[in-house]
Amino acid sequence: MGVTRWVLKSAQQALPEEAEEPVRDAPDADPAHADLDTLRQMVEVCTRCPLHRGRRRAVFGTGPRTAPFMVIGEGPGAQEDARGEPFVGRAGRLLDAMFVAMGVPRDSVYIANIVKCRPPNNRDPRPDEVASCAGWLRRQIELVRPRAILAVGRVAAQNLLSSSLSLGRLRGRVHSYGSPPLPVVVTYHPAYLLRSPHDKGKAWQDLKRLRELTGSGP
Ligand code: SF4
Repeated sequence: MGVTRWVLKSAQQALPEEAEEPVRDAPDADPAHADLDTLRQMVEVCTRCPLHRGRRRAVFGTGPRTAPFMVIGEGPGAQEDARGEPFVGRAGRLLDAMFVAMGVPRDSVYIANIVKCRPPNNRDPRPDEVASCAGWLRRQIELVRPRAILAVGRVAAQNLLSSSLSLGRLRGRVHSYGSPPLPVVVTYHPAYLLRSPHDKGKAWQDLKRLRELTGSGP
């Protein structure tokens, strides 16, 4: 299959020498043995990075533990922050429509983000924030054990794959994450597709690749 292997940066690798404020752990914040319910509770009170100061709600993720694939986005926007759910609003509805086209209802997919709290003014999450949040996502992926991951958007793809390549360079092939390796398909963020609908055809190619990998849909 020509798989290119990548791993998520460890917190130690990606943390800067001097953070803006001391990193603090949530109570009982070792996720290594947590189940999904416990992990959610830990994330909801997490203060590991400065993003906790501006959040209304941490956005842990949604979906069944038996999901055939996991969608990973960048981080919550305003509506997600208000509702505590990933991918709501217009971009979320387009993502739902993409799943419907695959023959996969949204409620059968597990959806999470690289960072669980909203960056101010929807800026990209900083490397130290991504590194602080990485342990939550890593454990989430371990627990869901999807057959594949769909990374949506440049920020999600670059951070998940520890790559600085552009989205255009990362699309169109299958990467892998973790050990044992999980296949990763990269596609456009639905917010980008709303602005650039001419690229929906390429996104559909990505979804077909994901469907082949997971055996999902009709
Ligand atoms: S973004 Fe992640 S690490 Fe930072 S406070 Fe929120 S849950 Fe904790």
